[in-house]
Amino acid sequence: MFQNPALDNHELVAFANDEASGLQAIVAIHNTARGPALGGCRVWTYEDDTAALTDALRLSRGMTFKAAMADLPLGGGKSVVMVPHRAAKTRAMFEALGRTVHSLSGRYIVAEDVGSSPDDMAAIRLETEHVTGLLPEHGGVGDPSPTTALGGFIALRATAAALGRDLCGLHVAVQGLGNVGYGLAQRLCEAGARLTVADIHRDAVDRAVNELGATAVSPDQIVEVEADIFSPNALGAVLNARTIPSLKVAAVAGCANNQLETPEDGKRLNTRGILYAPDYVVNAGGLVKMCSEYYSWDQDEVDRRVDAIGERLFEVFRLADEEDAPTDQVADAMAKARISPAATAIEPLLSPH
Ligand code: NAD
Repeated sequence: MFQNPALDNHELVAFANDEASGLQAIVAIHNTARGPALGGCRVWTYEDDTAALTDALRLSRGMTFKAAMADLPLGGGKSVVMVPHRAAKTRAMFEALGRTVHSLSGRYIVAEDVGSSPDDMAAIRLETEHVTGLLPEHGGVGDPSPTTALGGFIALRATAAALGRDLCGLHVAVQGLGNVGYGLAQRLCEAGARLTVADIHRDAVDRAVNELGATAVSPDQIVEVEADIFSPNALGAVLNARTIPSLKVAAVAGCANNQLETPEDGKRLNTRGILYAPDYVVNAGGLVKMCSEYYSWDQDEVDRRVDAIGERLFEVFRLADEEDAPTDQVADAMAKARISPAATAIEPLLSPH
């Protein structure tokens, strides 16, 4: 465990084992220097315990960086629930997870992620208040995707400005038209951008063609479209040694998580002169929305913080230019500086709810 390269500088890793419900879960708390560690609960069938631990560690570190760059009073954490198959999750498991979360006294705040649902969060809420991402009827803010899409739109506008362009007439290749990608495409269309789109679901593509006047290409072709910006909003690891050489764009900016397959890929983009907007800076809107639920912020506060994604990206682009460094490395360094003892000593203390 202690040799796992993903352990980084994690503060705490808890293993939850509840015989009655069959819950087997890991809660990873990477860093709480800026506030309680917020991160989703992933329900997944892992090959083995090590794969589950590595996933939890990697994802919780990512949450620390995302929260720090969004200037939120949050740290980074993540939980994973190990199930033999997708249908094996039960309400009792989430109640048991709620008790585990509660025993951490607010150091970790659980939220929805791949494999978990608002109903699962409602089950956790029976045992602890340290949960966010509830449905409006349960006192929550509901689906964060529209806010993620708004943040993505602001990030694309900033990226276009860094290229000396505005969105009107800009050609954007959008990969993925799901909850986030479609909302982003709608906003881009309203701003006068020209869209080329791809999704593995034909109906989403047809809708974009009919409603947004988009041009459709196959999922295989979208990475190679000649455009101003490539916007990944589907899968992780889409920027890699195979795809980067075929990109025909000036910049990449989208909301998908973990777009770079390896850190080498940030360097590859830099070498090709393609401006990369780091994913966790671009897609922080949803986290701002989740955070607003926990701290009871109003919509103005959410809007102000989502709007700041643009300024943050400019800062990353400016420093990367000055230092002639890949933007992902610059963003990581900025995030680390923001969780340093010197930076967090002056953070105001906020209390939840
Ligand atoms: P979603 O499942 O609603 O949408 C994903 C879309 O991508 C689907 O329409 C799917 O058909 C499509 N897709 C899958 N494989 C594809 C391929 N090979 N080519 C083209 N399209 C493909 O998910 P979402 O909530 O819209 O999230 C999209 C991305 O944004 C994910 O990477 C997610 O982790 C990230 N993200 C989402 C949020 C949020 O608030 N939902 C917040 C931060 C990051």
